[in-house]
Amino acid sequence: SGTSVERQEHQIVLNQLSPAAIKVCSGLQQAGYQAYIVGGGIRDSLLEAKPKDFDVATDATPEQVRQVFRSSRIIGRRFKIVHVRFGREIIEVTTFRGHHEQGKARDAVQSEQGLLLRDNVYGDLESDAVRRDFTINALYYDPISQTLIDFTQGLRDIESRTLRIIGDASERYREDPVRMLRAARFAAKLGFNIEPATADPIYTQGELLDHIPSARLFEEVLKLMLGGCATATVASLEKYDLFRHLFPGVSPIADASPFNRQVIDLVCVNTDKRIRQGKRVTPAFIFAAFLWLPLQAEIERLIKAGMKPGEAKNAAISGVISQQLTRTAIPKRFLMPMRDIWFLQYGLEKRQGKRCFSTLEHQRFRAAYDFLLLREDAGENHNGAGRWWTEFQDADEARQQELLDTVK
Ligand code: ATP
Ligand code: MG
Repeated sequence: SGTSVERQEHQIVLNQLSPAAIKVCSGLQQAGYQAYIVGGGIRDSLLEAKPKDFDVATDATPEQVRQVFRSSRIIGRRFKIVHVRFGREIIEVTTFRGHHEQGKARDAVQSEQGLLLRDNVYGDLESDAVRRDFTINALYYDPISQTLIDFTQGLRDIESRTLRIIGDASERYREDPVRMLRAARFAAKLGFNIEPATADPIYTQGELLDHIPSARLFEEVLKLMLGGCATATVASLEKYDLFRHLFPGVSPIADASPFNRQVIDLVCVNTDKRIRQGKRVTPAFIFAAFLWLPLQAEIERLIKAGMKPGEAKNAAISGVISQQLTRTAIPKRFLMPMRDIWFLQYGLEKRQGKRCFSTLEHQRFRAAYDFLLLREDAGENHNGAGRWWTEFQDADEARQQELLDTVK
């Protein structure tokens, strides 16, 4: 049974928590249900980091939660959850999940590989705790009584900065292989050690990710890359041999030369820096930059095989994109910008007269220019093109003309 930790012994401070999450808990409790804040919100508060969002766990069913909060709706993803809205904030409310021993489990569906396809069996607080992924994610906080409930020694693991899966690691990864990606992500983001029994099966079970729908993997890649520590996260993914399951075309190429390595590293460094500065990062930039090297290799291969350069470029773009789409379902709205960033590279390098003005006017100029600079930082040399564009974009007409004369 759970260890309940009273107010004095934990350092959750009420004003660190979202008022909306507290209101959801008190609303549910007033209606006669149990309700706790759980997951990343509590984990990050204990680590004195700013939580990204707050989740609430309750014994009320999704339909019952709906009746308590007027502005709420049921979201049917893999599990039914309720989104309760307070102004701009959305609190995710999940009903306690249960065990699904064989026979009893009418509402849990498992594939032959052990993958959980549906998991809507309800349970109590304790069964909910052991269905969660890591001990540090299974701490429950009741903001009304201000008690922390810990069934899995999560508090101990927070204190020793250890990432530990709940239950048998190999089995938990088979149920949901994305937990391996989450392990790599949390270890990188929090700077935690993954304890050996949690880490070891990851080295050999990466293949399980190949059965995960590409739409879910795309979402997961965004969390991996946009969490503010892409550099550490990619290193962690590579350490556990998971990176190649997300980017099959990039992985062999990243290791092929120090220059290639540098491009991948700079994409991560650049992404982390922009996020620190509060700047926008588009997934199109990350995917275009990661796939640039495989694209160049494929163009070269097709030309060697006898294709004309223009034709090779188009064929390579389709090939590289369709390979990546088998792993991550990049939405259409990002594919066109990716192509633009790629095509603009050639004009940026060559700087051909009047065309420079349309390049400058292009909607994707900024992203393409940023990528050109990144390539040069990695060691490519385009006769000063990066510096040239830096000056050209801010120059007056006369100076622009002078600059154009220098590249005739
Ligand atoms: P963050 O939101 O900072 O990325 P988080 O821990 O809150 O981290 P969420 O994806 O928001 O992660 O999930 C909320 C909680 O739901 C987790 O803390 C964990 O308890 C549980 N959870 C999420 N995904 C899984 C999973 N694949 N298997 C088991 N439990 C999970
Ligand atoms: Mg969360």
